[in-house]
Amino acid sequence: MAKIEMINGKLQVPNQPDIPYITGDGVGIDISPAMIKVVDTAVAKAYGSEKKIAWKELAAGEKAYAAQGDYLPQETVTALTENLVAIKGPLMTPIGEGFRSLNVTLRQQFDLFANVRPITYFKGVASPVKRPENVEMTIFRENTEDIYAGIEFESESPDAERLIKLLKTEFGIDNIRFEQTSAIGIKPVSPDGSKRLVRAAFDHAIAHGLNRVTLVHKGNIMKFTEGGFKKWGYEVADEYPTFTVNTFNKLKAESGLDAALAAKATALAAGKIYVDDAIADNFLQQILINPSAYQVVATLNLNGDYISDALAAQVGGIGISPGANINFLTGHAIFEATHGTAPDIAGLGLANPASLILSSVMMLEFMGWLEASNLVRDALAKTIAQGQTTRDLGGKLTTADFTAAIITNF
Ligand code: NAD
Repeated sequence: MAKIEMINGKLQVPNQPDIPYITGDGVGIDISPAMIKVVDTAVAKAYGSEKKIAWKELAAGEKAYAAQGDYLPQETVTALTENLVAIKGPLMTPIGEGFRSLNVTLRQQFDLFANVRPITYFKGVASPVKRPENVEMTIFRENTEDIYAGIEFESESPDAERLIKLLKTEFGIDNIRFEQTSAIGIKPVSPDGSKRLVRAAFDHAIAHGLNRVTLVHKGNIMKFTEGGFKKWGYEVADEYPTFTVNTFNKLKAESGLDAALAAKATALAAGKIYVDDAIADNFLQQILINPSAYQVVATLNLNGDYISDALAAQVGGIGISPGANINFLTGHAIFEATHGTAPDIAGLGLANPASLILSSVMMLEFMGWLEASNLVRDALAKTIAQGQTTRDLGGKLTTADFTAAIITNF
């Protein structure tokens, strides 16, 4: 047993790494043991006795509150600080004064600036579109800035009134339509925050041999925040071997369309990445009309929230989509099921563990354990394609039977 470390910007994974996990509330007790069983079996199959994960359960959520009166005990935070890579089931959001979502707290605590959502279609899953298999994208959603920073003042509160007054008197703002009653929110977006996210998207494209990165924004309306994201995104593109849509348009204007197309083809053949951008509303149309054009998407927090859920729905995968929150600079990463605690089926052995299992696929890949990661992904895809699914996907299997079917398919 040993710790995963980040040394000179590279993750160092020992053969028997400690990996903390949070079972999660509700269906967490159904899906977390299923995920561990699948991962342990895949790792043993891929590496024999050479590699093995040393799982460490951490308390969080309802279970921790019942035992210790704390939804996120300090020991859990300390363990997550010391161990870079962790995986978690869903956590209930406590309702009441003073509680923030535990998920948001964890993201902030470790500055997990990239929310990574791979969107893949699994054959056999019902989808609302004709060709869901054309969707194969990874969304990099900025996770720490934007309107999600939570800087908001309630309608008619003294703070909102003060801020509106300040905007009027100090900044000459005279177009708040209902200034007596407006609630006010602040949207911080920085080059630092944007660039580190966009770099993660480019690094992903390079690592996976992908040749298109698209920056999605609303810079036409919010010139300095969303427009800033686009500008800084293109600055990051200049750090990488890329061919941008701006170069394409310049060539087109100077030498014609054929010359621009030829230059683009030459650049792609030489392994460069094509970089373009899309206005968020247009992008939501494009992913329905022409999804196969897009590969890696870098976007701000709110856009990313909408886009990743829209794409998950498009491939019929809301219940099975995985996700991860990662700080690629420190190596801190928490892999998670993207669905909630499903209190209606919790503990009944009926839950679909696919979202958490696919998160473990992302985790194994992040650790560089590609053989195990591929084993799990392929076996899960095969199991679903065979029609062996849990009830939410139209099948009859229990969590345990579905888990056993995946393992049989290794
Ligand atoms: P939910 O995702 O828990 O449930 C919505 C529906 O999907 C339910 O019918 C449920 O049975 C079904 N479902 C969810 N996961 C399933 C699975 N693995 N297998 C089969 N069916 C599944 O959403 P909700 O009811 O809105 O939220 C319940 C709680 O979960 C809330 O406290 C919420 O804050 C929390 N939540 C947590 C996370 C997270 O930890 N990442 C995400 C979303 C919601």
